[in-house]
Amino acid sequence: MRVMAQVAMVMNLDKCIGCHTCSVTCKQAWTNRAGTEYVWFNNVETRPGQGYPRRYEDQDAWRGGWTLNNQGKLRLRAGGRLKKLLTIFHSPVQPTLDDYYEPWTYDYEKLVNAPLGDDFPVARPKSLITGEDTKVTWSANWDDNLGGGPDAAELDPIVAKLRAESEAAIKFSYEQTFMFYLPRICEHCLNPSCMASCPSGAIYKRSEDGIVLVDQDRCRGWRQCVTGCPYKKIYFNHRSGKAEKCTFCYPRIEVGQPTVCAETCVGRLRYIGLVLYDADRVTEAASVDDKELYEAQLGLMLDPTDPQVIADAKACGIADDWLDAARRSPVYALAKKYRIALPLHPEYRTMPMVWYVPPLSPIVDLLSEQGHDAEDPHNLFGAIDTLRIPLEYLAELFTAGDVGTVEHVLKVLAAMRSYMRDINLGREPDASIPASVG
Ligand code: SF4
Ligand code: SF4
Repeated sequence: MRVMAQVAMVMNLDKCIGCHTCSVTCKQAWTNRAGTEYVWFNNVETRPGQGYPRRYEDQDAWRGGWTLNNQGKLRLRAGGRLKKLLTIFHSPVQPTLDDYYEPWTYDYEKLVNAPLGDDFPVARPKSLITGEDTKVTWSANWDDNLGGGPDAAELDPIVAKLRAESEAAIKFSYEQTFMFYLPRICEHCLNPSCMASCPSGAIYKRSEDGIVLVDQDRCRGWRQCVTGCPYKKIYFNHRSGKAEKCTFCYPRIEVGQPTVCAETCVGRLRYIGLVLYDADRVTEAASVDDKELYEAQLGLMLDPTDPQVIADAKACGIADDWLDAARRSPVYALAKKYRIALPLHPEYRTMPMVWYVPPLSPIVDLLSEQGHDAEDPHNLFGAIDTLRIPLEYLAELFTAGDVGTVEHVLKVLAAMRSYMRDINLGREPDASIPASVG
């Protein structure tokens, strides 16, 4: 078996407060340069919402990621070898600056010294819903300002679609509106479509840790990688004429430090770890039906305590200290051992390696309002169909629509929370809870 090592990240969404410290510190470290004003290697987007860049999840429009052809073989949506050879005639399909956001510079003096005025401050974007202003500019987290009531015509199209399709979502009212934050970096995919889309062969995946990088000397600025990445996590520097992306802070990783975003995260929600995977089965795992992709990707992660895996890893040149790191990996524990972390949009088939613990807190809020003991998992299990965040919405993000997997993860989270509560209160944990989770 060909064993390879991959640095990966898990983010616990219940803990994100949307403070953007991660985005700002990353920007200061990596994209505080001419040509990268609009670039956020790390961004934190409002959910539900259109994301950053706007509507990046619409792969019919952007042609990112992989799909299956009639024979069930992986095919680049952006186009295969011939398209790459003819790159000079094919413009990349990419978002415009309006889909990212228009950078501005604060006048800090006015921020603190501006005279009082009687005008109500307005700034673009201002009429995204009504469409009155044709010069609408997108802005990160503008979705926060779009929260509202149950009028479908005014809701974000994604929510409106959910309302039409889902019984749970039909229960929408002002009291049941929801939002959460989704921090995103490059996924450092096992099957990166940015790399496969590049006509110059400038993008490579490091064999020692799986970090995906752009060779700046080889990049010719074709921008097909921008089209090819379904997460839109590779950017064009219009000053240098080269593509740039999140580097997983490799100079820090190489000396044993965490990424800047993880080190500065206010919510302490980012877990970094090494994962061993079966490199020979990546294509096979990326080629299964949508609903099986989560299990297929999980199946690639190898048990770092298995003697056969250790022997194969050593034969593949993985050093003892890396094997030790893999054994201590919180990513392996959260994703594979406890199965509470899920990949973002596995249906893009790039095998993403930044996974998420889905948010549980809205159930607790709701139960508290109903007068229940919101920390009692029996109540949580009974209330799973009254979630503020529709299971279908989380499934759309994390399991290619498999609601059962999301529900199971939330139940496990509720059971773990109850267990820790009993331990912290010096009580005997309720033995019936693990059995009821299944
Ligand atoms: Fe490439 Fe990162 Fe996009 Fe994956 S998420 S396709 S590694 S740029
Ligand atoms: Fe969320 Fe942490 Fe980023 Fe703040 S620093 S927005 S808590 S991920």
